[in-house]
Amino acid sequence: MFEALTPGLEQAVVDLARTRMSLDPVPLDGSATPTELAERAGPTVTPDGIGGLAALRVFDEVLSRACISADHPRNLAFIPAAPTRASILFDLVVGASSIYGGSWLEGAGAVHAENEALRWLSELVGFPAEAGGAFVQGGTIGNLSALVAARHAARARRAARGLPAPARWSFLCGSEAHSSLRQAAEVMDVDAVFVAADDDGRLTGQAVAAALGALGTRGPGLLGTQGAATGTGGDSEVFAVVATAGSTQFGVVDDIRGIVDAARPHDLWVHVDGAYGLAGVAAPSTRHLFDGVGDADSFIVDPHKWLFAPFDACALVYRDPAAARAAHAQQAGYLEVLDRDSPWNPSDYQIGLSRRVRGLPFWFSLATYGTRAYSRAVEGCLATARAAADRIRELPYVELVREPELSVVVLRRLGWSAEDYHRWTTWLLGSGLGFVTPTVHNEETVTRFAIVNPRTTPDDIDRILATMSDGR
Ligand SMILES: *Cc1c(COP(=O)(O)O)cnc(C)c1O
Repeated sequence: MFEALTPGLEQAVVDLARTRMSLDPVPLDGSATPTELAERAGPTVTPDGIGGLAALRVFDEVLSRACISADHPRNLAFIPAAPTRASILFDLVVGASSIYGGSWLEGAGAVHAENEALRWLSELVGFPAEAGGAFVQGGTIGNLSALVAARHAARARRAARGLPAPARWSFLCGSEAHSSLRQAAEVMDVDAVFVAADDDGRLTGQAVAAALGALGTRGPGLLGTQGAATGTGGDSEVFAVVATAGSTQFGVVDDIRGIVDAARPHDLWVHVDGAYGLAGVAAPSTRHLFDGVGDADSFIVDPHKWLFAPFDACALVYRDPAAARAAHAQQAGYLEVLDRDSPWNPSDYQIGLSRRVRGLPFWFSLATYGTRAYSRAVEGCLATARAAADRIRELPYVELVREPELSVVVLRRLGWSAEDYHRWTTWLLGSGLGFVTPTVHNEETVTRFAIVNPRTTPDDIDRILATMSDGR
């Protein structure tokens, strides 16, 4: 069926991985158009195959060069990545091990290790010992999974009280919350109510309390609103409030303690979206910003963002795992054998059944370096962000849009139009120096540095800022 591998292919694949891992610095690389790639790569999927060595050459010489390296120290666009060497190495082992990570029956040892990593995160935020969850693909699926569990719990509570289902369900979040929450609302066919953040971009407990008050209470622990308030044309009931622990745009942490306090009297599920920023709880200098997460009902944090793991892994943790199980455990004759009392089936806590044990590279890295190294690495990124802010204050041609709170620094180049920012981004990438993208805030185009790589130094920042001195 499948012919024996070309002699030397195994070695060539391992060598390529080893070479990429050892590059310092890694090449930034770039992008290409579909036509360019089709021309350079030629046909690759053919009836007889082109052979492993030829396919590997196409990847090495053409395809990989048309992918921007997320781990380049001057890639500060979006939220890049900076996996540790140990985590990358172990990702190779995970790939070679064919472990099914959906159930304890099939993946007990790996699931145990993933749960150790989740335990560390749980303890950092102050969740109880019985908390737990699973690693999912990313923050988008993590937020969706948590909100599905929250709505399920709210539905069950209503049913237990003999109340009919409301016409619509809704959840509250801040106006600077991540785009994935709108997506979750779309998938769930519920309404996302965006509550205005304050001038610093923070959703406050006060604003949440006021919004809940305006929506009106309809009996014990139940909130209702007329369609006019949410534009849904019917009664809508709130089932959750989402607090953002580090906004993607600015790294601003919501008033989590205040939000938890505002939600409690209404018996609402509080979910903390910390996909990027919650890693800051590991750093002594920012830990205090996350006060209140320990009293939430669920949280997410993406190790592939600011916890130095390879794509893709989001840690999703519930205070009361039984509530998530009730929403997510799939039932079928062929799943009957998966004892529901088994110690831990990761598929019971998320959207999805089959899963890669995607938390293992993160676990291996934690086990290798120890948690103290993580605290230092997160702290190092914060120090670089603070140095960047200081430098921006010194330079006459740039200014901070807001003071950075975590490791995202948003700045304005005085006198630049949106066009100028876009031209500069293209030039910077083309020069191989760095990758920094524009962003829009209050209808103004500005730019931002997202610093999640411990190898990014203040000198890297200076080199990028220097290229902004004249128009491009
Ligand atoms: C990145 C991000 C997400 C989405 O995470 P993915 O892993 O990209 O799906 C959600 N929320 C916040 C705050 C984020 O920064």
